[in-house]
Amino acid sequence: MTTPQSWDARAKAATFFGFTDLPSINERGTVIITHGEGPYIIDTEGRRYLDANSGLWNIVAGFDHEGLTRAAQEQYARFPGYHAFFGRMSDQAVLLSEKLVEISPFESGKVFYTNSGSEANDTMVKMLWFMHAAEGNPQKRKIITRKNAYHGVTAISASMTGKPYNSVFGLPLDGFVHLSCPHYWREGRDGETEAEFTARMGAELEEVIAREGADTIAGFFAEPIMGAGGVIPPSDGYFDTIIPILRKHGIPVISDEVICGLGRTGEMWGCETYGFTPDVIISSKALTAGFFPMGAIILGPEISDRLQRATDAIEEFPHGFTASGHPVGCAIALKAIEVIEGGLLDNVRRLTPAFEAGLQRLSQMDNIGEWRGKGLMGALEAVKDKATKTPFDGSLSVSERIANTCTDHGLICRPLGQSIVLAPPFIATDAHLEEMFDKLEAALKKVF
Ligand code: PLP
Repeated sequence: MTTPQSWDARAKAATFFGFTDLPSINERGTVIITHGEGPYIIDTEGRRYLDANSGLWNIVAGFDHEGLTRAAQEQYARFPGYHAFFGRMSDQAVLLSEKLVEISPFESGKVFYTNSGSEANDTMVKMLWFMHAAEGNPQKRKIITRKNAYHGVTAISASMTGKPYNSVFGLPLDGFVHLSCPHYWREGRDGETEAEFTARMGAELEEVIAREGADTIAGFFAEPIMGAGGVIPPSDGYFDTIIPILRKHGIPVISDEVICGLGRTGEMWGCETYGFTPDVIISSKALTAGFFPMGAIILGPEISDRLQRATDAIEEFPHGFTASGHPVGCAIALKAIEVIEGGLLDNVRRLTPAFEAGLQRLSQMDNIGEWRGKGLMGALEAVKDKATKTPFDGSLSVSERIANTCTDHGLICRPLGQSIVLAPPFIATDAHLEEMFDKLEAALKKVF
C-alpha cells in the first residue's frame, strides 16, 4: 500500500505559488489551513495560529463571523449571482452604492464595482484616460505614484506599484512616474528635520510636474499609509504639502484605501486620518471583510460628473467585469459595513493605544530601528545596527526568519522588506494583542 502523500507534497505538486519565498517553503513546508475561529486559523495538523495579519489585511471581523455568513447564505438563497450591465443590476448593488457614498467623505458620488483592488486601480486609470480624452486632452496619460507604493498586480496597477520586483515583467509601462517614498526615518538626509524632508517631498513633486508637463498627467494615486511597502505613514505634513500642489495643477487625487479604508487607521477612511479629501476612493479588502472578492471605486461628485459627461458623449463606458456588483458580494459588504459602523471601528480606536504601546515596547530592543503605526496597522523595522540604521544582510531576510519563527510559535505575521508587519483584525481583544506581542517578542529574542 502506498503512503498517502502529505498535504504539503500535494500542495507543492498541484500549485503554482505566487508571492511565496520558495526556499522557505522548501525547507519548512506549507501551512494548509482547514478552518478559522475568530482571529485564529487551524491547519491540517490541528495547529492553531493567531493571524496578526487579518488574512491579507481583509478578514477584519474574524474567520467565522455569523452575521457575514448569514448575509451570504441568505443572498445565495435569494439571488446567487448577476452582473451590473446593460441596464440591469441587483438591488443589493444599488443599496451598497448608496451606503458607500453615504459613508464616504463626498457629498454625492457614484460607485463602480470590480473583483479586486488591482482591478479597481486599473479601471480607475482607464476612467482617467477616458475622461481626459473626451475632454479634448488625450495626452493626459501619465500616472504619478510613489516608490515603495503597492497598488496591485495587473499590468497597469503593477506599473503604479513602486516595487523593484516588477522589473521581472518588464514593468512599469511607459508613463508611470514614481516620486520618492515619504519615509522620513529611512529617507531623511543627515541633519534634515522632518519639516525640511516634507518640504523636499513637495519640491520634488513640483519638479516632476514641471519636468513631465502638467498637461500630460492624468492623475496621482497614493495610499494614505503605505501598507505592503511595510506600513509607512507619511512624514508630518506630507499630504498638507502635496495636495495643494496637485490641486493647483488640476491633477485628480485618488486615495487608494484598499488597506486603509473602512476603519484600519482608526477613522472610516485613511484620507480622513490625514485631513484631505481626494477626488476618488478605491476600496476593497475590509469592504467584504474578506468573505468575498470585491473592489469598489467611489467617485466623488466632480469626477463622477466629468465621467458622466464623457460617457454621455459616446453613450457607453466600454468596461466592466462579469461579476461586477455581484449580489452576494454586495450583501456581504452591506453587512460588513454595518458591523464596522456598529462597533468594530470603535474597537480599533479602543485598541490603538495598547497596540502602539506594544510596538513601542518591542522597539526598545537593540535590533529594532523603528516602530511605525496608526490604528491597527503597524510595523517593526529590524536593523543590524540601531545607531547607523544599517540593515541586516543574508539571503533569507531577517524579517523572513522572524516571521518563520513566529509561525513556529503559533503567530502569523508578515515579513515586508526588513520589517515585521502587524495588522490584527478589528474584532481583536486585549488578550489577543497580549498574545501577539508575547509571541513576537519570543521570536525576536530567538532570532536576534
Ligand atoms: N491597493 C493596495 C493599497 C493594496 O494593498 C492592494 C493589495 O494588497 C491592492 C491595491 C491590490 O488589491 P488586490 O490584491 O485585491 O488586487
